[in-house]
Amino acid sequence: MKTTILIAILFMMLPGPGRCGHLILLDSSALTALRAKPGTVLAWTAFGNESLAFVENAPDGSRILYQGSLEDVVIVASKHEAPQNLIPKGGRLLHLAGRYAVAFIPAPMRARLSAGAKHCLDVIPFPTGQATTSPFEAGMKTAKPDAQIAAILGQITPTALDGRVRELVNFKTRYTFSEEFRQAAERSRGLLEEYGLETRLQNFQMWGKTGSNVIGVLEGSTSPDQIYILGAHLDSTSWEAATFAPGADDNASGAAGVLEMARALKGRRLQKTVWFVLFVGEEQGLCGSKALLRLLETENLKNQVKGVFNLDMIGYNKQDTLRLMLETRPLAQEMMEVIAASAQTYTNLEVHHTFQAWGSDHIPFLDAGIPAVLTFEFEYDDNPNDHTPMDTMEHVNMDLACSILRADLAALIQLAGPLASPPDTRPRRPRTAPRQSRTAPW
Ligand SMILES: [Zn+2]
Repeated sequence: MKTTILIAILFMMLPGPGRCGHLILLDSSALTALRAKPGTVLAWTAFGNESLAFVENAPDGSRILYQGSLEDVVIVASKHEAPQNLIPKGGRLLHLAGRYAVAFIPAPMRARLSAGAKHCLDVIPFPTGQATTSPFEAGMKTAKPDAQIAAILGQITPTALDGRVRELVNFKTRYTFSEEFRQAAERSRGLLEEYGLETRLQNFQMWGKTGSNVIGVLEGSTSPDQIYILGAHLDSTSWEAATFAPGADDNASGAAGVLEMARALKGRRLQKTVWFVLFVGEEQGLCGSKALLRLLETENLKNQVKGVFNLDMIGYNKQDTLRLMLETRPLAQEMMEVIAASAQTYTNLEVHHTFQAWGSDHIPFLDAGIPAVLTFEFEYDDNPNDHTPMDTMEHVNMDLACSILRADLAALIQLAGPLASPPDTRPRRPRTAPRQSRTAPW
């Protein structure tokens, strides 16, 4: 390489004037104090109570993580791998916050990072002023519990949920392309029918084979053309997926949760329509949720969808505090706040949220401009069993899972309700035709 070119490259790599500074680690109150001085904090983000601020001159005693240009600092987040392990050679970990790694990775290296990555990786520019994850303030949004809602939530119990999760785990695998998945889907469809829903299978082509989403519809009493979707992926995976992928937390917990919520609403109706959906092919690239979106488009229903709840991994925790993570984008902030308020009113969950959304079945809906929120365990990234044959029953905390389901169900009733009162006791339309899968065009 010619020296002049080398010098030119070295010059380009130097931080530009005015963009240089220090990245410091501080707690949230120190950040607030620093931000009160105009022009001091050039950029910041927060992970719970831990904050990172980019300042031109670091105050005395600061914990400096990095000195240089902010343009070379990114947040790396990964669904299935420890994010610190994804930093390429030449990059440097600056701070680790759960499943987020704040890292020094200059732009040319970032391209390499994305090229080698799976679909569940996100490289986010360092925010200029937005919390990456933050707890909701307790009491901020709470209301008085409603007795009727509380009575319905009372039907969500650890014992009942345990039985439902166990049944799914006992299929040994729910790998998308397995016979066991088909059986689990058929069983789930049978349960949704038992709970009084109109059901259908959405069959579609994925990876040269047929995939099937299970859909159960609870038609709205007065506004049936407004739809809320309650979804969870039924499929599981592991390194021996064809024969053994119990997927207890990922995602029998969420799938059983959707079934249990349908059971809790049995014999009742909400004003708006609710679709209970068990997705296939999440582990192969969100195939089921993308297919459902195509179905909604084909049937001209897309604009009627007011919100999507996605439940994916709701039962893992190591620490005593039961915590809920809400993951979405700002377009669903209102819906997210209803869920947070419901959690605070009806459960003891500590609620956190993030606007960095990726990697599960809420993404296709968010990309289509539909409010969608992933509700899941806060300690997600600490679960060592995910996608392994060790994702088994004994690692699922049913108290955490039930609390998350109660928060979701209370929010659903508020958003899609109110409940038709008194409870709807009219007989359901009997199924006259033989059960036939309706195949959706796509
Ligand atoms: Zn999952």
